Amino acid sequence: MRYISGIARHSPLAQFNLIRIILALALLVSLNTPQVVRATTNPTVQTQVEIGRSVGGRPIIAERLGTRGGPVVLLTGLIHGDEKGSNPVLNRIRRDIVANGSKADVWIIRVVSPDGANRHTRANSRGVDLNRNFPTSDWQRTPRGLNFSGVSAGSEPETQAIVSFIRTYRPVLSIWFHQVGPMVDPHPLGDILIMRKFATVTGYPLVSAPCRGVCVGTATTFHAQTVPGATAFVVELPAKVTISHVERNLAAVRAVVSMLS
Ligand SMILES: [Zn+2]
Repeated sequence: MRYISGIARHSPLAQFNLIRIILALALLVSLNTPQVVRATTNPTVQTQVEIGRSVGGRPIIAERLGTRGGPVVLLTGLIHGDEKGSNPVLNRIRRDIVANGSKADVWIIRVVSPDGANRHTRANSRGVDLNRNFPTSDWQRTPRGLNFSGVSAGSEPETQAIVSFIRTYRPVLSIWFHQVGPMVDPHPLGDILIMRKFATVTGYPLVSAPCRGVCVGTATTFHAQTVPGATAFVVELPAKVTISHVERNLAAVRAVVSMLS
């Protein structure tokens, strides 16, 4: 109090200068205080981004985990809304990365087709097979039915959301979980060593999935054509995804991520 009353005896200009010094000191102290403690102690970051909406207005959510600056990896499920076996697999992988981290910058899109998942249908709510709707060099219009490719390439908002995501983040690896297998479906543009590793660790055969209709305009082809050198492939999960299958797919994802530089 005596100190303050001492200041009070000084001229207004002296008081003003003293306050400026005190503020400058306070600023110095605040600048030297670490502001981003969490990022330095825990490299696993978690962000949820709405990358688009379905025809029915449902959000399509991408969750970011792992280490930013690492190789970008995309894991997806339910591009076909009636193939829900991907849920326990992607949930397990998510939990593993949250607990143990990953050197990769991992994005998980659990539900590419929220309308299809809601209706439990292969197609989206306009009857389009999203995995035939991508703007690839081989896209062509196929007859309405189980594998209808849409009225034009990239006509569906769900497709547009994924297209925009891949163009923005340019993953080096994408894995698309489908049913029903089990099998790992290799893509001719991908790194065969990565796909073979995934097949070996899961114990699934490495064979081309039979195409119902024409396999044009697929998400894997779009990714491989858009990001040169990227590997994109389909994993057909078995009809019944047991804990053993969940763990094998987790181990396979970890194994192929470790192969990325
Ligand atoms: Zn499928």
